[in-house]
Amino acid sequence: MAKITETAWIWRDGEFVRWQDATVHVLAHSLQFGSSVFEGIRCYGTPRGPAIFRLEDHLGRLLDSCKIYRMEPKYSLDELVAACCELVERNGLDACYLRPMVVRGYGASGMVPFDSPVEVFLPCWPWGAYLGDGALENGVDACVASWNRMAPNTIPMMAKVAGNYLSGQLIKMEALRNGFAEGIGLAPNGMISEGSGQNLFVVHKGTIYTPTINGTLLHGITRHSILALARDMGFPVREQELPREMLYTADEVFLTGTASEVTPVRSVDRITVGSGKRGPITTQIQQRFLDLVRGTGEDPYGWLTYVRAERASKQSV
Ligand code: PMP
Repeated sequence: MAKITETAWIWRDGEFVRWQDATVHVLAHSLQFGSSVFEGIRCYGTPRGPAIFRLEDHLGRLLDSCKIYRMEPKYSLDELVAACCELVERNGLDACYLRPMVVRGYGASGMVPFDSPVEVFLPCWPWGAYLGDGALENGVDACVASWNRMAPNTIPMMAKVAGNYLSGQLIKMEALRNGFAEGIGLAPNGMISEGSGQNLFVVHKGTIYTPTINGTLLHGITRHSILALARDMGFPVREQELPREMLYTADEVFLTGTASEVTPVRSVDRITVGSGKRGPITTQIQQRFLDLVRGTGEDPYGWLTYVRAERASKQSV
């Protein structure tokens, strides 16, 4: 699996520190109690230099996660946008992955976090295909996990917080140990929820379905992008509850996420999905998505933040 490739600089509370100096104490609240909120964001190499996909939306979700957990970071959305752009440039990167984190540091002795300082870190590093080479073209084999996702109103799934990823780790480890590339979690009511780190789409007789936002899954930014692109391409799209068996009878299944982009699923529980290859609708949507994020297709939504243009506009103010 992917190991982190170190880069030179990490932004920490307003200044750039060396990669190895971006540390927290072993008794940091987030380390003890899982209370670190974070984001995963991709920056793409484009003909106009590095461009970050839906940067403001990701940072907006980060600040929403903070709000849910009553954390008050000292930085505004605009300041974080500027810091992310400077980070990519300082590290001399083109395509990379950014992992903003807001952590509760060292201070509180117990679970109540208010005596721990809220600290912001922005690391980034180069990262390729999350589900392995060839996954985007050939698809992956997935299984339905024996672990369910969290129930609504237990641990809020609309906050992207470290503790939630205990569920993802159980699902993913089980899948890998059983010879699958990815695991799909069901909601407590048995309906389809999402992958360990991706949202899920099913294509059935020309209609594109995805589970509705129901408190068991993350409202993925790639999910939102794919819904918009698919609608604008003229496909019928529905957000609704989906029973597990739709995975087996689907013409196509694909996963979406910042890391996974648009990854076809070629089998679920060793039952072949459709033709067992990347399907025609998945292919069209994936191509449109990849063209947009790589800066070679139209971006009528303004989803790309071009790092150099953004920095130039701020410096001229
Ligand atoms: N669900 C989970 C559990 C995730 O971790 C992710 C990745 N952030 C997603 C869905 C996809 O979200 P996004 O498209 O915003 O990356």
